[in-house]
Amino acid sequence: MGYSTKQRKILIETLERHRDETLSADQIVDLVGEDKISRSAVYRNLSALEDQGYVKRVTLPGTKRIFYRYTGSEECRAHLHLECFKCGRTYHMNAPFTNALIENVMQQSKFEVDSGSTVLYGVCEKCRKN
Ligand SMILES: [Zn+2]
Ligand SMILES: [Zn+2]
Repeated sequence: MGYSTKQRKILIETLERHRDETLSADQIVDLVGEDKISRSAVYRNLSALEDQGYVKRVTLPGTKRIFYRYTGSEECRAHLHLECFKCGRTYHMNAPFTNALIENVMQQSKFEVDSGSTVLYGVCEKCRKN
């Protein structure tokens, strides 16, 4: 395995482990460990992964900071996501009612929802308690 392939693999594994989080590039560097992958390699790989649809770049409302969310798994392409604009956490919606919602939209509005790209923004339970 080549050096860059290995770095990419480590990066994807890390993103997968933290797939409920929306992370900044710096946070990703911290999670992977700068000894394993250089900061510039993280940035380079993130934009490559973005081009390939593995990660989505998000800007949280009210901030100019850029975050990344892992959307590479097959599952993630098929369900909706909720995103908390206070803590940035992503929730994966596998519940049957969300599938029913998408089917209803299709039936009623003849509109095919791209689930994997659809995010509902709001405030999560944790943040509402605080
Ligand atoms: Zn997901
Ligand atoms: Zn939250």
